[in-house]
Amino acid sequence: MKQTTDYTQTATIPPTEWLESATPQEILRWALTTYGDKLTMATAFGAEGCALLDMLARLRDETGITPDIFNLETGYQFPQTLALCKKIEERYGFSIRRIRPDEGIVAAEEQSKAEHGKPLYKTDPNLCCYFRKVAPLGPAIENFDAWITAIRRDQTASRANAAIVGPDDKFDLTKINPLANWTKDQVWAYIKENDVPTNPLHDQGFPSIGCWPCTRPVAAGQDDRSGRWAGTEKKECGLHIEVNSATLTRASNF
Ligand code: SF4
Repeated sequence: MKQTTDYTQTATIPPTEWLESATPQEILRWALTTYGDKLTMATAFGAEGCALLDMLARLRDETGITPDIFNLETGYQFPQTLALCKKIEERYGFSIRRIRPDEGIVAAEEQSKAEHGKPLYKTDPNLCCYFRKVAPLGPAIENFDAWITAIRRDQTASRANAAIVGPDDKFDLTKINPLANWTKDQVWAYIKENDVPTNPLHDQGFPSIGCWPCTRPVAAGQDDRSGRWAGTEKKECGLHIEVNSATLTRASNF
């Protein structure tokens, strides 16, 4: 049976039993009232992120608490994604921080072009993701105590055991995944019910949208994330998994 304790009254991380049965809005309300201006959210404006932003806007109106929100502007986001960012700011009155790549990307790109005549995303996508996403994330969240992400457990094997709330040892803060136990159908039902703006690329065969060089449309019935780094073993950018030591070693050379 669902517990009725009001965890918005305490900074203690609620018990797993409560978290697993709570709605995303209940989890977000707890996060807002617990962390206040020490709460941030990373979004690339996927369907899940858009649903969470809509929920946060409604909770802001209810609680008076506005969370920090940021986007990792890799330099390779689709024009449709950049337009959606502005649309969401206008619709909800949010001011979304754009986080630029780590300065190491300049030397890494130069070396890639000099040695291979190709951009880094072709020669070393892990290093490209490191400089454009992972490295900039640290400074982006260093003044916060908790961050919200939009991952779902059924997206990838590495996300299957994601906690709804738990420590993020890599970045030394609390990580909150309000949609961890939601399905894709639940996300889209929320979007339709609440007329949430989403990326028009979803209607063109892109269920999961990242940077344009590394994202392909997928055929009906294919895994939603099979269009990300298609044809390679790579499945994650590194924000939600440990970056491998070889990538860290290469990054340290720049
Ligand atoms: Fe680079 Fe592709 Fe990663 Fe974007 S997704 S940061 S283009 S490797």
